[in-house]
Amino acid sequence: MSFDTLPKNELTLTEAVEYLKHYGYFEDIIAHIKELTVVDVYKMIKSKKLRDKKFREAIARFQDFFNITKDGEFGHETMRAMSRPRCGRPDIIPAGAEAAGQCKWPHLDVTYAFELSLSGVTDDQTTQAFIEACELWNAVCGLRLKRIESLGSANIWAKSRRIDGRGGTLAWSFLPCGASSRTQLEQRYDTGENWSIRFLTEVICHEVGHAIGLNHHNGNSIMHPTATGQWPVPQAVDIRNVVSRYGEPEPTPEPPEPEPPTPEPPQEGWPEIQGTISIDGKPHRIVPDIKLGGL
Ligand SMILES: [Zn+2]
Repeated sequence: MSFDTLPKNELTLTEAVEYLKHYGYFEDIIAHIKELTVVDVYKMIKSKKLRDKKFREAIARFQDFFNITKDGEFGHETMRAMSRPRCGRPDIIPAGAEAAGQCKWPHLDVTYAFELSLSGVTDDQTTQAFIEACELWNAVCGLRLKRIESLGSANIWAKSRRIDGRGGTLAWSFLPCGASSRTQLEQRYDTGENWSIRFLTEVICHEVGHAIGLNHHNGNSIMHPTATGQWPVPQAVDIRNVVSRYGEPEPTPEPPEPEPPTPEPPQEGWPEIQGTISIDGKPHRIVPDIKLGGL
């Protein structure tokens, strides 16, 4: 398909260039990509020289990541994949600590705080979703993510803000590359979305995955850049990645066995005797608290 004959109301070439640039698909394909604007890249691609090569190469890389037909064409399938609501972080990371999977917190007790006001969910549901998402990570690695009230002192702090309205970018988060115990990482969740509690929990779990060091993953992973509902909790690859950073979760202590009842200590001396005895043919009742041994 030619760029000039794209159907209306679908992704434009400029939007595709913006997408590929923002999510890292031109890394190592166009030199010094970070220093170029989207307009610069657009102009380069529109020139005959790059149009058939670098753009197609970046499109093929995107198709490969999203597991769709890898033909380098900017066609309907590719446009559909680019139109899916997704995380705002890049998919392709330039070489460095982040790409090498070395981003992590230096300590296991990591605090988080949030102030989120989102459409479609109540504040209580949002709180429930955030805590549940963090507990999903606590359950599979040695980290102890703990909620605190103050955004000003939490290691991970999240706020809601309008990012781009419905669809497009849902949320984003920083990674803890080179973090210290005093580092504070920011996250943002889009007020323009219509959230449900299940969808929100999945997206928070994904963003917290970034905040504890994980990059995007294009397989069966909570770290897939689009929230599809297919992998709403940490998957095998995610668990391996966090365990390699923070170790296995601490075993949950077994609840203590109930103590067996303490047996009564044997009484010394004569046993207590109750009943009646007959003396000289007359019955006499034995008073219970008088022990024969004491007579
Ligand atoms: Zn992400």
